[in-house]
Amino acid sequence: MTADLTTLDLEEAGAVLAAESARFASFGWMRGTSGNLSVVLARDPLRLAVTASGHDKGELTPADVVLVDGNGAAVHEGKPSAEAELHARVAALTGAGAVVHVHTVASVALGHRHPGGIVFKDIEMLKGVGQPAHDVEVTLPVIANSQDMKVLGDRLEAAREPRMPAVVVAGHGLYVWGDTPRQARHHTEVVEWLLELELTRR
Ligand SMILES: [Zn+2]
Repeated sequence: MTADLTTLDLEEAGAVLAAESARFASFGWMRGTSGNLSVVLARDPLRLAVTASGHDKGELTPADVVLVDGNGAAVHEGKPSAEAELHARVAALTGAGAVVHVHTVASVALGHRHPGGIVFKDIEMLKGVGQPAHDVEVTLPVIANSQDMKVLGDRLEAAREPRMPAVVVAGHGLYVWGDTPRQARHHTEVVEWLLELELTRR
């Protein structure tokens, strides 16, 4: 958590999230109105700005954001996605300042193929998630999907690999986090790159 993030007000956070959403939407990672992004505005009590539900993620404005508490419930007004609860859980659990949730083809395909987790080894790109490129094996956890965010949060907490700032939800998509929206974006792009590489293997 960097000091500058705590100074973001809700509209500034909305502008940051709208820009990040437009980028991910341009990659085809937020098709339809799928996926959501969040940034932590306060720690005690926990407050997050989360993208509003039901909007095209390529067309968000700074106003398309909802302030939620540690349970993912709206603090004042607006309709957060049900998945806001999992964003709050990830922020509380990992100390992350920003969380990205996208429905990518590679994460869904590989979640089916590797229900026990996806192992990466000897790949230079692992440096992008803070790992040495060689002589280390890192597992990206895969958890079963649920419509109950408490159940999903419990699975995420149990499966979490501290060296990998991401979890695949089988049949659903990807959660990735970082200290700031920019770091969460970099982690998302690196993890998705690793997944796309794995997808090319037979
Ligand atoms: Zn989702």
